[in-house]
Amino acid sequence: TDFGDYAPAPESAAIGRIQPRYQMYLDGAFVDGGGADLTTVNPGTGEPLATVATAGKGDVDRAVAAARRAYERVWSTMPGAERGKYLFRIARGIAERARELAVVETLDNGKPIKESRDVDVPTASAHFFYHAGWADKLRHAGLGANPTPIGVAGQVIPWNFPLLMAAWKIAPALAAGNTVVIKPAETTPLSILVLAEIIADAGLPEGVVNILPGAGDVGAELVTHPGIDKVAFTGSTAVGKQIQSALAGTGRRLTLELGGKAANIVFDDAPIDQAVEGIVNGIFFNQGHVCCAGSRLLVQESVADEVIDKLEDRVSTLRLGDPMDKNTDIGAINSAEQLARITELSATGDDDGAERWTSPCPVPDRGFYFPPTVFTNVSQSMRIARDEIFGPVLAVQTFRTPDEAVSKANNTPYGLSAGVWTDKGSRILGMAQAVRAGVVWANTFNRFDPTAAFGGYGESGFGREGGRSGLAAYLQPDAKDQF
Ligand code: NAD
Repeated sequence: TDFGDYAPAPESAAIGRIQPRYQMYLDGAFVDGGGADLTTVNPGTGEPLATVATAGKGDVDRAVAAARRAYERVWSTMPGAERGKYLFRIARGIAERARELAVVETLDNGKPIKESRDVDVPTASAHFFYHAGWADKLRHAGLGANPTPIGVAGQVIPWNFPLLMAAWKIAPALAAGNTVVIKPAETTPLSILVLAEIIADAGLPEGVVNILPGAGDVGAELVTHPGIDKVAFTGSTAVGKQIQSALAGTGRRLTLELGGKAANIVFDDAPIDQAVEGIVNGIFFNQGHVCCAGSRLLVQESVADEVIDKLEDRVSTLRLGDPMDKNTDIGAINSAEQLARITELSATGDDDGAERWTSPCPVPDRGFYFPPTVFTNVSQSMRIARDEIFGPVLAVQTFRTPDEAVSKANNTPYGLSAGVWTDKGSRILGMAQAVRAGVVWANTFNRFDPTAAFGGYGESGFGREGGRSGLAAYLQPDAKDQF
């Protein structure tokens, strides 16, 4: 992604400015919380990185009250063009501090610096630019003649794309005239607190965005708070289910972006070398910490040996190691807990009789790392074929006919994304209909754009983020336009 005119300022070469301690952002001020400070760890080294204030007793109440005041007094009545100006300023602020944000993200999350720099940060900025454009055009969105915001949004995000998920949540909410209380994941609170500085520098009225770091208990208090009108959650299916049942009967608007077990489907007429690149990107991008990761490879039997040989050769060239090294392809696993989970789940593959191949790359002896892993001889009943591992572990299965590919692809409670690799346009269209997934990529994978709606079926959740449908999630349905 290109920043266009908004190249990072040279002074942001003062990168890596990790403060020793970060505060919460509540009602336009950086403040301490009533909770105990948390320590965030650099997954690349396993060393502590910074301490962060967390929300405690009364903080969610205070943040929701601030968001309500801001909603009623300023934000919901402000002309859309004015709201848009703030969003443009935030978008530019992200671009101007891009290098610093990329470094903070990589140090806190463990993802390779080239990914934070080239994907996470520019896409976060693009998300604000895109929604800035909507703010004064809501009436032209085909979402009702008199688009009305919902109110105060309570939002909870995970650790795999900390800044980008913040942008996905905050930008559409603000564009549509809502105010926000958001909780980042406990292992990755730093980039959103740098974003808080950008938001403050943009002059956003106090209380419009409130950021409360903390653990799951803060998230639970936030989403069930009676002052919240709309809940948006991205995270695990288990927590999504808890939230959905906690909100049952409240009538509160809810969108859930949950887990996945996406199939990357390679037909025998596919451009094989291109497909191999897509398989690698699908499962090893961001260490496989991607809800839409192509964690299941379904390959047509006649080309399976060729694809697997080429895949293993290609994966052997990937460099695993220091996330801050520009040449690193695979960075660190976000936390010791996640590393243990990946290790444990992948061990079930050995126990169940699948064949494990591990990349021969050297693995650093400190920090949290897991080498790229490919399982073959996988059957549908194995946990590695069913459970979301959320790590760099690929389960390979074969198929003979397109029908078998569809039935295997759909044999999962999830339905977030899929990839199809083939030379036939008709097959792409057919698979896009038949595979039950919110996004079906054709001859590519992991392509994200703010203009495109993203979201799932089944246990991957419901609701869409991005595009016009993402905007609709933050507007009241307009009774006059329902027909
Ligand atoms: P998680 O569900 O454990 O945590 C997500 C967030 O929810 C964190 O901020 C956490 O503190 C908070 N939380 C925990 N318990 C809560 C509760 N009871 N009420 C409210 N909030 C609570 O998930 P994770 O391990 O941080 O993230 C990984 C998961 O997220 C994966 O399963 C992945 O597929 C999913 N994910 C989905 C998408 C998507 O767009 N569909 C995107 C990214 C991640």
